[in-house]
Amino acid sequence: MIDIIKIAEKLVETPADIQVELDNSKCLKQFKFSKCSTCHQVCPEKAIKIENNKILFSKDKCTSCGLCLSVCPNEAFYSKPSFFNLVLDKLDSDKITSFSCQKSKQKESNKFNCLASLNEAILVQTALKTHGLILITDSCNKCNYKNKALPLINEKVTLANNFLEIIGSRKEITISEKLDMQKNKLSRRQFMATVSKNLAHVGASAFSSNKDKNNTISKSRLILKSIVEKDKIQTKKQTELPFFQVTLNKDCDLCLKCSELCPTGALFSQVKKEHLRLRFQTLKCSGCKLCLDACPRASLNIASLTNTALLKRNLILKKSKVSRCSSCGRLLTDKEQNTCLSCQKKKTFNSNIESLFA
Ligand code: SF4
Ligand code: SF4
Ligand code: SF4
Repeated sequence: MIDIIKIAEKLVETPADIQVELDNSKCLKQFKFSKCSTCHQVCPEKAIKIENNKILFSKDKCTSCGLCLSVCPNEAFYSKPSFFNLVLDKLDSDKITSFSCQKSKQKESNKFNCLASLNEAILVQTALKTHGLILITDSCNKCNYKNKALPLINEKVTLANNFLEIIGSRKEITISEKLDMQKNKLSRRQFMATVSKNLAHVGASAFSSNKDKNNTISKSRLILKSIVEKDKIQTKKQTELPFFQVTLNKDCDLCLKCSELCPTGALFSQVKKEHLRLRFQTLKCSGCKLCLDACPRASLNIASLTNTALLKRNLILKKSKVSRCSSCGRLLTDKEQNTCLSCQKKKTFNSNIESLFA
């Protein structure tokens, strides 16, 4: 057995005392057309209702399980104190860390109300910052939340491991019913991560420097984005990643409602060389689907990104030649021809004045 591996002692203050809060200003439901109901669907306590297309959050029913925290694309649900501060500031970089829930009999692990509250960014960060992460699910099968929580845990862990693999990290997140080092012998990936000194750099600095000009991007997305930007993508494997790919069909008429509303700036428009372009940056997209809900022509589609080659790309989804006003040079809209509306009005006003003095 590899004796340099020690399981981290209880490093994190128990997050059982977290309070779950809703910041309505971040909820996509402020746009009447938004069909987002992810939090409502995941809440096992019916603490989240939708009435008149608005989220109603009953704190008295909430058990602070945190499932809503890991699924809301805009981080409208958040915890007090923040999970990021609770977990990430206190991890021990020399050890493998284990997380379990309050019901777990595993004394040595760091406890959460529910493991499904941990999103892929927290999992990736933890694995990168330590020698790997084990999620202990010894009590999940007896838990009332298992039908909602277990699929979520599996989904997040798969996405996080896929992500770790493509950035060339040998850290790994494993799910285990028991924290038994004899049984849970380290995989080759974990062992290599432990002995390989030159891996220490991977993503490590991303934790403290998640600055981005666009502050509407959620903290989780900024973290993943900064890791991808910093580290080389080491494998071109086709695998499901915690990123999204938006595509357009031929019905798009470049009305730009999607890019005007996109809360993260992932979709944006640009005029270059007399062409109007609708562009998309994968790393910024949260998968919120507001663009799909906003499009009057149902021209957009979204799917999980599987092509690693597209990760860092800034794609042109559509481009079309634009015309300019013959008088002032401003870009013309669909309803204007040759001259923009304000130049047309100015011309009419001037000719009226002239006719008065004629
Ligand atoms: S998941 Fe988030 S954005 Fe969507 S309805 Fe719930 S709070 Fe709003
Ligand atoms: S923390 Fe759990 S119980 Fe509370 S609103 Fe979120 S999903 Fe529902
Ligand atoms: S591109 Fe669409 S799905 Fe992605 S963040 Fe913008 S609005 Fe949301």
